[in-house]
Amino acid sequence: MIQEDFKMIRMRNTWVEIDLDCIEHNFCEARKILPKNTKIAAVLKANAYGHGAIQIARVLIKNKIDQLAVACLSEALELRRHFAEIPIIVMGYTPDEYLSIGVRNGITLTVFSMEQARKLSDMAGRLNEKAVIHIKLDTGLNRLGLKPGPKAVDTIMNICRLNNINVEGIYSHLALTTLEADQVQFKVFMDMIDEIEARGVHIPIRHISDSNGMVLYPSFDLDMVRLGGFIFGVTTDGLYKDVISLKPAMTFKTQITRIEKIKKGEWVGYDPVFVAPDKCRIGTIAVGYSDGYMRGLSGKGEVSIRGKRAPIIGTICMDQCMVNLTNIPEAQVNDEVLLFGVGQQQNISVNELAKKVQTNRNEILSIVSRRVPRVYMADSQIIDVVDYLLD
Ligand SMILES: *Cc1c(COP(=O)(O)O)cnc(C)c1O
Repeated sequence: MIQEDFKMIRMRNTWVEIDLDCIEHNFCEARKILPKNTKIAAVLKANAYGHGAIQIARVLIKNKIDQLAVACLSEALELRRHFAEIPIIVMGYTPDEYLSIGVRNGITLTVFSMEQARKLSDMAGRLNEKAVIHIKLDTGLNRLGLKPGPKAVDTIMNICRLNNINVEGIYSHLALTTLEADQVQFKVFMDMIDEIEARGVHIPIRHISDSNGMVLYPSFDLDMVRLGGFIFGVTTDGLYKDVISLKPAMTFKTQITRIEKIKKGEWVGYDPVFVAPDKCRIGTIAVGYSDGYMRGLSGKGEVSIRGKRAPIIGTICMDQCMVNLTNIPEAQVNDEVLLFGVGQQQNISVNELAKKVQTNRNEILSIVSRRVPRVYMADSQIIDVVDYLLD
């Protein structure tokens, strides 16, 4: 039996720091640029992009966030366990067998077919409840939603007439590929809404923009925006320059566990991808791909130690990897290593890493694994430590 008290203790030399003041700051920046009547749904799917859904929700609720949004029902239930009142919308498809669990827990569901709406209404009637839904339209992303057209207008009218359904919202999602295509999507969305309004039905919450949509197209704000990356302070480079100052909330750190000198011709790690061209000084660090430090960064990534960059050498292992310290002679065992985020002397942006492995910023953040403790900061103090393995 484990007898330690783990509260507020970080049990590992690899961790992320999450600055809750940054979350609050970014949320306030969004509030500043949005019209008064536009609500904000914070998108907390994938454990709030790795930041910890519960802790992020707590800060946002304190700051009067309007709604929370997640991808699937289990994510909604995790939040509902901690927060009884806040509206929580599931943006993904919920299979029929789970609908009653959603309704009984007051979760707002996304619906995009007559069949599912009818099942939901019947079921809610049996439970003596009203199911709250948002209808999703597929205006061009070709992922989820009802395809617009005269038939879809009829379907929406019929859904609105069901007895035990409250159609609180209607929404779509932009592809954000070109300005022209986004404008076409917005027009298709608004044309559908106009048709519905012309038939005498008003759906209160219309929404289409995510973080980049909100910044690029103020006229698309409507009744609500759904913000993920913006809240976490990680967005497309240059997009918000001069307009908004965002602060990335997450910093990923580890420590040096060993330093050794090797001779010319020796290799480092599995597979002889790095063979020392001369004698060099190598450091082992306590992070690997299963922590969310992608194997694809092998031979490409750089970490920051004492304000200097050290390249990753050899292939990244599951739990560890090696860096070249030849040019940082002052580096010592137990030195802090910045993997990404804001450092004391130097920053490494999530976008920089994303570019190196040809992925996007959201993947880099959301794959930080459950083995990595989350250290929460406010006023530059540690206020909470969450270790999913020990809590
Ligand atoms: C993930 C997601 C968002 C949030 O996207 P960001 O670009 O991170 O703001 C918004 N809407 C839907 C439907 C999503 O799946």
